[in-house]
Amino acid sequence: MNPLLYPAEKVASAVRNGELSALDYLEAVLERLKHVEPKLNAFITVTEELARRKAENIDRRVEKGLKVGKLAGVVVAVKDNICVKGVETTCGSRILKGYRPSYNATVVERLMAEDAVIIGKTNMDEFAMGSSTEFSAYGPTRNPWDLERVPGGSSGGSGAAVASGEATLALGSDTGGSVRCPAAFCGVVGLKPTYGLVSRYGLVAYANSLEQIGPMARNVGDCALLLSVIAGYDPRDSTSLKVQPMDYQTKLTDPPELEKLRIGVIKEFMGEGVQEGVRERVWNAVQSLENLGARVGEVSLKSLDYALAAYYIIAMSEASSNLARYDGLRYGFRSSDQGLDWNRAYAKTRRMGFGEEVKRRIILGTFALSAGYYEAYYLKALKVRTLIRMEFEKAFKKFDVLVGPSMPMTAFKIGEKIEDPLELYMCDINTVPANLVGIPAISVPCGLSDGLPVGLQVMAPPLREDLVFKVAYAYERTGKWMFQLKP
Ligand code: GLN
Repeated sequence: MNPLLYPAEKVASAVRNGELSALDYLEAVLERLKHVEPKLNAFITVTEELARRKAENIDRRVEKGLKVGKLAGVVVAVKDNICVKGVETTCGSRILKGYRPSYNATVVERLMAEDAVIIGKTNMDEFAMGSSTEFSAYGPTRNPWDLERVPGGSSGGSGAAVASGEATLALGSDTGGSVRCPAAFCGVVGLKPTYGLVSRYGLVAYANSLEQIGPMARNVGDCALLLSVIAGYDPRDSTSLKVQPMDYQTKLTDPPELEKLRIGVIKEFMGEGVQEGVRERVWNAVQSLENLGARVGEVSLKSLDYALAAYYIIAMSEASSNLARYDGLRYGFRSSDQGLDWNRAYAKTRRMGFGEEVKRRIILGTFALSAGYYEAYYLKALKVRTLIRMEFEKAFKKFDVLVGPSMPMTAFKIGEKIEDPLELYMCDINTVPANLVGIPAISVPCGLSDGLPVGLQVMAPPLREDLVFKVAYAYERTGKWMFQLKP
């Protein structure tokens, strides 16, 4: 088998045993990257030399018989809103051009401690605001399955990198679907973990109360492996949960039968607005799970009608506050400001540094938080959030997991939705609930519709990542979907 097709676990064990040199493997990945990257634009920065040094260091330690980590030699791509010390971190924005953080995100430290080889920083919608990776100051990323189409977003670079073999694994961030959307559109596995399970230290904030860093991989086992490495308490993130880290992979070795597992299909996810091909693929997947012994029922969550509106009000409000720090003094880009007073200089830097979509959200978020409107918008959105959480809690009394399509459609054409922000926001209808509620949600590929991948979404109660992995793995084991390198 071509090492480029090895799952992460196999790369690490082959490197550990001295059967595969980390450097040879890296060179093979780099060659692949050089071949496909001109078509895809999945990376903003490729850290070739840094990666080589790490790979050589791993090989040396293997030769000497020293211990190497769980991800020895595994090539990982990191979304460009996660800090890697000394490496430019732009968040897909002009305003952070040239910014090199002086510290590593906790997840990056954990990757390094397990001997992962970081290959670069992936393209994204500016400040993670978007669902198509078209809102990047560094040009759009293309979908490896069809270069005319978007890879999803905002972690589109990470999705495309994994699907095309530019990396073995990748990290994304998911505020309202940004891991699951590109996973679905690119035919890879992506997980949004329980809020607080993975440290956000070193993740550039978009909407703090909603987001988590999440693993992306070619298969469920690799996704579980990457989560085991990055999850766990971190005193540097005040929202980090004090839970014992789990080895999520060992949970997968359970026999993949689902005897008595109760699966609830969310009615609102399967109705109007869902592409026919998507609905069919998802029903087929549910049928496969039923054949493995699961008990399937339908569940209606009425409050979901308001999820999208509540999400966008909360996300934009938090963003308007978070993005106030980009003043041209502390980080990155600063416009020429000769003769301008402080207010004008600040405004000019921001006018030139931020893209359209980011400015739109800062304005709307500021409006929603302003005196006189706060109660009508922000506060009301918080109340809706509570209602949705309560409805999910109730549903989880009847069902162990809840399922539906990750996205109501397959990857759309580049440029198709960019003119109409509302149409783009609508794409997130199935992904935002898990962020509002804080529960784990995975997207696992479940077939093709008109030649494009479809994602099955599985959600479980807080900290039940083991359950979402179990269901996703059981589906994967039916063999109805196999990872293939694209393009
Ligand atoms: N598309 C959603 C938004 O634009 C989600 C983005 C994300 O998860 N970072 O807010």
